[in-house]
Amino acid sequence: MSFETLGLGPNLLRSIEEVGYTDPTPIQQAAIPLIIEGSDLIGIAQTGTGKTAAFTLPMLETLERLTKDPARRGKTRALVLSPTRELVVQIHENVSAYARHLPLKVANVYGGVNEAPQKKALRGGVDLVIATPGRLMDLMGQGCADFSGLEFFVLDEADRMLDMGFLPNIRKIVKDLPKKGRQTLLFSATLSRDIEKLTKEFLYRPKTVEIGKRINPAETVRQCIHEVPKSAKLSLLKHLLHDNDLYSVLVFTRTKHGADRVARQLSKSRIPTSAIHSNRSQNQRARALQDFKDGKTRVLVATDIAARGIDVEGITHVINFDFPPNTEDYIHRIGRTGRANSQGEAISFITPEDHGPLRLLERKIRKTIYRKKVSGFNLSRSSSATKFKPYKSKESGKSSHSPKKNPRNRNQKSGNSRRHSGQRRSSGR
Ligand code: AMP
Repeated sequence: MSFETLGLGPNLLRSIEEVGYTDPTPIQQAAIPLIIEGSDLIGIAQTGTGKTAAFTLPMLETLERLTKDPARRGKTRALVLSPTRELVVQIHENVSAYARHLPLKVANVYGGVNEAPQKKALRGGVDLVIATPGRLMDLMGQGCADFSGLEFFVLDEADRMLDMGFLPNIRKIVKDLPKKGRQTLLFSATLSRDIEKLTKEFLYRPKTVEIGKRINPAETVRQCIHEVPKSAKLSLLKHLLHDNDLYSVLVFTRTKHGADRVARQLSKSRIPTSAIHSNRSQNQRARALQDFKDGKTRVLVATDIAARGIDVEGITHVINFDFPPNTEDYIHRIGRTGRANSQGEAISFITPEDHGPLRLLERKIRKTIYRKKVSGFNLSRSSSATKFKPYKSKESGKSSHSPKKNPRNRNQKSGNSRRHSGQRRSSGR
């Protein structure tokens, strides 16, 4: 199937060609015609499968078609809500690339930066606004936004927005949006039945597009586990980073403090590293992300919330320095690599406390993750090694350290064979 058959006009097809997409991804094939037809939609797909274009392309198509209608001029016609500032910036980059041949104005609204330009943009009548809920609420409270002509309302990463406690704000925002003539789209990588029920209050007779299983890590990501006592995690991380296959690495920690500590230690060991988390200023966050995208830093250490919007081309490895307590976070994290059909590897450090969440994850994804012994790394150097008991998977009933028995073993050493000769680019084009 080609983009031409999905109902997109020549201006958008031109931009799509310019950004280098040849074929629509499955979520785009399924969602684009339904959105153009006017349906409300719940879209569920794995991370990195092209969700952003799946909702922005048909939305831009419809906005362009009706752009000559004088009644619509000077009004905000589409609103996209997203959970993090980084994700807002990324969607904005994508939309700007897709809309470059369309007569539409697009603005960003998010916290942590001066609000004056955002107010000006809202008052000036931009066609499309991409926003985080908190800052948008503030500006709506100050009377800056006019959504009376809204045609599209999009909730992106809807599960995370609700997890992050944005539901009251979203409800208040939705109360001020017109009900009639508004098309609502809800996109998410994971969506529990409970959250889905809750979100239906915003949608009118939605169609659901579900690509892959509800809980399904990206297939382009190889996954493995290293058993390690807590006290040896940092040495293990440094040891792994001796391998140049780990070329562009996103490391996840549980806390902001932990992210700073790991980044500091790696920097001391002369590994170019920065950290991104919600205690850092917006400027620091933006710089950390840009340096990582440009290849100035090799490692970015992040907490879940800050990493939500990260879409950097060529992340070779995701390392769960701290294993996430819930499956959804695991899937989102590892989806930062292996994007758009490139190969990636996800490595998780597992301490005895993580055995419960790991078992739950393996049950949900119906797969035993490969336990890999790290060559050349001596666990017994660690002080807690004497108390350390490796995990036995219930699924396999085998010791976690049995690489010979794992058929995927042959592939493990190669890591990500993709090399970047020059600088990495942001995939936001
Ligand atoms: P998303 O799931 O929206 O975060 O997209 C993941 C990555 O896939 C981004 O880097 C997009 O630029 C890229 N992408 C989206 N659609 C396509 C497509 N049809 N062909 C190739 N790459 C795409």
